[in-house]
Amino acid sequence: MISEAEALRRILDAVTPLPVAEVPLPDALGLSCARTMLADFPLPGFDNSMMDGYALRAAESTGERILKLKGVQPAGLDQSLICGPGEAVRVFTGAPIPAGTDAVIMQEDVEVLEDAIRCRELVAPGENVRRAGADLCAGQIMLKAGDALTPGRLGLLASQGHATVPVHAPPKAAVLTTGDELRPPGAALLPGQIYNSNGVMLRAMLAQAGVRGATAAHCEDDFNATLEELKRLIREHDMILVSGGVSVGARDQVKPALGALGIEPEIWRVKVKPGKPFLFAQTTWQGRAVHIFGLPGNPVSGFVTFQLFVRPALLRLLGRTDTEPESLPAVCGRNLSNDSDRPHYLRGQLRHDRFIPQGMQMSHALFGLSQADTLLRLEPGQTIHEGENVRVFPF
Ligand code: AMP
Ligand code: MG
Repeated sequence: MISEAEALRRILDAVTPLPVAEVPLPDALGLSCARTMLADFPLPGFDNSMMDGYALRAAESTGERILKLKGVQPAGLDQSLICGPGEAVRVFTGAPIPAGTDAVIMQEDVEVLEDAIRCRELVAPGENVRRAGADLCAGQIMLKAGDALTPGRLGLLASQGHATVPVHAPPKAAVLTTGDELRPPGAALLPGQIYNSNGVMLRAMLAQAGVRGATAAHCEDDFNATLEELKRLIREHDMILVSGGVSVGARDQVKPALGALGIEPEIWRVKVKPGKPFLFAQTTWQGRAVHIFGLPGNPVSGFVTFQLFVRPALLRLLGRTDTEPESLPAVCGRNLSNDSDRPHYLRGQLRHDRFIPQGMQMSHALFGLSQADTLLRLEPGQTIHEGENVRVFPF
């Protein structure tokens, strides 16, 4: 059995980012940018109005003068209006600022006369004008290689006219659940059967990490069925998550099936709780690397080992530079101890800065996990008292 750190090191050494491809912006959420992206033009692209109001010369906003309305400039096509002394133009939010004007007075601050206005407030030069380039200059770095594509960053790329973004292509992923006892949600259960919850949970975790539309496959605890499913999935995927069947039981077929394919696991069994039976193996198909993660069937074990090992590997495949899980300082909300010989990841909620464990801390207890948003790692033999400072891992 190897340590968690050693397992993670071996996995990260084994994975390299996939080739770069251009993908449409709406499909890029959660992926990472593969190249430095510079702004082609400034933002805003031209001086424009921050308000519905009137563009004018600030020096003429004294209220002593009646300003003649020269025309209307809505947001949209520039009417190329030119304002002379004593003139103003009706403008709306986002409208290009007409030549000859240097400020906008908000509509609430004027008295509207027929074809003219009188200012009730003084405006300063530049007031209510969004200056070209004030937000972003031409040539400025918008994104660096390895940066996560968040909604705000996708919006920024779109505002520069990009329809696509270069990313490391997301891996083609599959989730293969195993187990005679499992039935798909929606079907009827016979006594002794349970629903396959890992299939949906693991595919949701992949989606959250940027890999949507993973293949769902299932096989019973049968050597030939497992072998055939693995063979089929290896041909079509870069990454396979196998759920269950990785322990030492006579009905655990994943290791024997991998063995029959000539695939020797690089990792099997890790010093972590929950998640000890975790397995990692690699193979190639037609020159393409295929990463195989064997996750324990117990739902919480599958969840925790995904967070600890699959997610960092996935981020590395996607070209992300920050594969380390984010940790936060917190105050322990309960007395907690770990009497096992492995580090224990407890599931809890971070309420303000207090970590409160949720539900049963057992590897099958899905309800507690469903209430949790944070992991707390307890070292073997460690006791933490309520009120002590800890670091936690929100997920
Ligand atoms: P295994 O790792 O196959 O020995 O399974 C360990 C435990 O997890 C058993 O109680 C299984 O019934 C349960 N389990 C395995 N796969 C799933 C799954 N896909 N969804 C829900 N529970 C599962
Ligand atoms: Mg099983």
